[in-house]
Amino acid sequence: VTHQPPPLDGDRSYLVLLSGGLDSTVLTTDLLVSGATVQAVSIHYGQRHERELIAAAAVAAHLQVPYSPIELLALGSHLTSSLTGAAPVPHGHYADANMSSTVVPNRNAIMLMVAAGIAAARGLDAVVTAVHAGDHPVYPDCRPEFVAAANTAALLGTGGQVEIHAPYARITKEQIVQRGARVVAPFALTWSCYQGGDTHCGRCGTCVERAEAFAAAGVQDPTTYLDPDFWRTATERQAAEVTS
Ligand SMILES: [Zn+2]
Repeated sequence: VTHQPPPLDGDRSYLVLLSGGLDSTVLTTDLLVSGATVQAVSIHYGQRHERELIAAAAVAAHLQVPYSPIELLALGSHLTSSLTGAAPVPHGHYADANMSSTVVPNRNAIMLMVAAGIAAARGLDAVVTAVHAGDHPVYPDCRPEFVAAANTAALLGTGGQVEIHAPYARITKEQIVQRGARVVAPFALTWSCYQGGDTHCGRCGTCVERAEAFAAAGVQDPTTYLDPDFWRTATERQAAEVTS
């Protein structure tokens, strides 16, 4: 088992799926540091809050990467999830059972194939996604076997032009934070909270995951949380449930 992502190829051109979150921002920075040609897209599928799209635009501007938000709003209204519908966003640890309500079915697959079409139209070599090992339990379309199948589908669908890469698929969010610190990713511009608002709530699954990853990585977290200590209790409770 390797815990290091494969080296990125600086001679190639990539279309990165930039959500405005931590992982895809580190990935975009990583790709630029490798010397590759990088463009970015965000897929707007009707996330309850548009705060992360504002973050994506800010990250792209900071990194001076060409960036396009892609509207798929009409599609999002047909995908039931607490992120796009009326149900409340659950509080707690991202590994809790109630986090399944944050799953937008087949979201990653949809975004990858939309991006593969755009990459083909622009003559780019590959689509790159920042899915990581922590995504696997909750999101089936983030698992390595799915990414491998999506790569095959993209290559077949574009006549061999566009590949799909997930260089973080076997590393953890903690390792992504460490990598981001090394390449000086603009952490402070990123947005993780599923609640929207102007400040990270500190209580939703992605806020907890973010705070936990910075702490585990030993990297200073520049994020302001409304409830800065909730992640500790959520993490302890989750650990107790796993061992009981
Ligand atoms: Zn939050």
